[in-house]
Amino acid sequence: MTTIAFIGLGHMGGPMAANLARAGIRVLGFDLVPASLDAARAAGIKVADSAVAAVAEANTVITMLPNGPDVIAAYGDSGENGSGLLAAAKPNTLFIDCSTIAVDDARVAAGMAVAAGHRALDAPVSGGVVGAENATLAFMVGGEDTDFHEAQPLLDLMGRRIVHCGGTGLGQAAKVCNNMILAVSQIAVAEAFVLAERLGLSDQALYDVASNASGECWALTTNCPVPGPVPTSPANRDFQPGFAGFLMNKDLGLAEQAIALTGVDARLGLLAREIYADYAAGEGAHRDFSGIIETIRSRVA
Ligand code: NAD
Repeated sequence: MTTIAFIGLGHMGGPMAANLARAGIRVLGFDLVPASLDAARAAGIKVADSAVAAVAEANTVITMLPNGPDVIAAYGDSGENGSGLLAAAKPNTLFIDCSTIAVDDARVAAGMAVAAGHRALDAPVSGGVVGAENATLAFMVGGEDTDFHEAQPLLDLMGRRIVHCGGTGLGQAAKVCNNMILAVSQIAVAEAFVLAERLGLSDQALYDVASNASGECWALTTNCPVPGPVPTSPANRDFQPGFAGFLMNKDLGLAEQAIALTGVDARLGLLAREIYADYAAGEGAHRDFSGIIETIRSRVA
C-alpha cells in the first residue's frame, strides 16, 4: 500500500493531506505546531511522532513548508528543526516539494535528494486555501518525466490542473512568473479604476468596457478591486483575502531573486515588489492584495 509522509500541515498542507486521506491513501503527517496536528487527526490523517518517523515508512514524501531554507533544513540534518528527512527515507523515495520557494533553493533541495539516492520534484501550487480544501489547486511541476508521471495520480487527488513545466526548478519558475504577471496586472487595474474615478467615469462603465476589450484579465474579471461589478471579489467584503498581501510580497521577493539571478530587465516586476513590500508592511499584510487600490486612491494629489 502506498504510504505518503506529509510534512507541514498548515493552512495549505492540512487540507491537501486531508484530501489524500479521504481518497483512501495512508497518510502519515507531521508538523511542528501541536494545533496543526490536532486538526490533522480530526481530518483523518495519522499523525507520526516525528517527521523522520513518518518518512521512514513512506514511499513518497510531500513537503508543504513556509520557505526554501525550511525545505533545505528539513531535507538535511542540521539545525534545531532540521529533520534529516533524506537520511531517514528508504532508497529511491520520491520527494515532492509543494512549498513556494526560490528556483535556486528548489534546485539545491532536489540536488540534495538526488545525492542521497532519492528522486525529487518541485510542485508549487496556486489556488489558495479554498483550492486546497476543494482539491482544485493548480500544480506547476519541475523534474523528470518518469517522476512526474508517478506523482500525477497523487496530485490529481489534490488539484484540478497539473502541468509538467520541465526540469528541476521549472515548476517554481512558472509560479514566480505567473505571480509577477498577477501583481503587475492587479496594480494596473487598480490604477485604471482610480484614474477613471478622477475622470468621472463610473466603475461599472470601465468594467463593462475593459472586461470585453483588450484590458481583460483575471485581476479585473475575478479579483475586481472595486465593489459591484464582480460580486464575489474581495473588494465586496472589505478586502478579506483571498490572497493576502504578505503572501504576494513573499512571492515577489522570489521574483526579485530570480530577476537578480538572470539579469532580466523586469522593471515593472521590481516596482510591483516595492509597492507590495510597502503594502505588506502595514495592514495590507492580512488583506487581499487587490486592496492596493486603497493605497493608490489615498495618494491622489
Ligand atoms: P503555514 O505557515 O500555514 O504552514 C506551514 C507549516 O509548516 C506550519 O504549520 C509549520 O509549523 C510547518 N513547518 C515548518 N517547518 C517544519 C518542519 N521542519 N517540520 C514540520 N513542519 C514544519 O503556510 P501555508 O499557508 O500552508 O503555506 C505553505 C506554502 O504554500 C508556502 O510556501 C506558501 O507560500 C505556499 N502557498 C500558500 C498559499 C496560501 O494561500 N496560503 C497559496 C499558494 C502557495
